[in-house]
Amino acid sequence: MPHSPIAPEAADLSAIRGYLFDLDGVLTPTAVVHMHAWSRLFTPFLEAHGAKPYSDDDYFAYIDGKPRYDGVRSLLASRGIVVDEGEVTDAPSADTVHGLGNRKNDAFNATLAEEGVEAYPASVAFLDAVTRAGAKVAVVSSSKNAPSVLAAAGLADRFEVVVDGAVAAREGLPGKPEPDTFERAAALLGLDTTDCAVVEDAESGVKAGAAGEFGIVIGVDRGVGREALRELGADVIVDELDELLPALDRAIAASGTDAPDADAASAPPSPTTSPSTPREDPS
Ligand SMILES: [Mg+2]
Repeated sequence: MPHSPIAPEAADLSAIRGYLFDLDGVLTPTAVVHMHAWSRLFTPFLEAHGAKPYSDDDYFAYIDGKPRYDGVRSLLASRGIVVDEGEVTDAPSADTVHGLGNRKNDAFNATLAEEGVEAYPASVAFLDAVTRAGAKVAVVSSSKNAPSVLAAAGLADRFEVVVDGAVAAREGLPGKPEPDTFERAAALLGLDTTDCAVVEDAESGVKAGAAGEFGIVIGVDRGVGREALRELGADVIVDELDELLPALDRAIAASGTDAPDADAASAPPSPTTSPSTPREDPS
């Protein structure tokens, strides 16, 4: 239901005990890695076909925002190149739509391994602060590459729960915009959804947050736009997550642990040392 968003500094985080973070676009600027991976796929392929060389303009014109195989079809069509569709199970070496798409996924992981990806500093600052304050944290991502992205960003040890595309497929959970993957993450943290914040940058993700019974839906505007995020159901909208640090400080002060690193006897155990850490392997 659309409603007026709260200013970041006025957000009430005092009841929030868990933060459910989307990954791509919230914690890491993963789009850059995808751009480089597409270039790595199509630069040699187009050269071998004597076609017009690949450029980043092609990414924005034909690939950006589309499911992977659709991006392959669209780029090939722009060059008048026709290949067989093939099957999803095609080897990455196959010059089919699906083979090329699978080769792109390999290129993504190779690019990630070689170039790494640097998490948004403001997001890390917020993650540090909520963790220090004793909140639990999870990653909820549609991507099956979430574990490798987290590892490349140096964040793999920061999350006790990761619900990604592989987990969703395995457990039969509907993806965003349904709230199920966020609800599953809350359950794995041992929290009620109403005690959790959903942190999202995408339309489908904010919708998922609004569709569930979560404590607050935080929209990060990486390009969707504040108005759209508001209409989709974000309770508070920021450009960067460190805009919420004053609200977090207020919530900590209100709870009696007024020093950010206070060792309050009642503080829950640090998420990073939780014994019940379900780790997910990359798939
Ligand atoms: Mg995202």
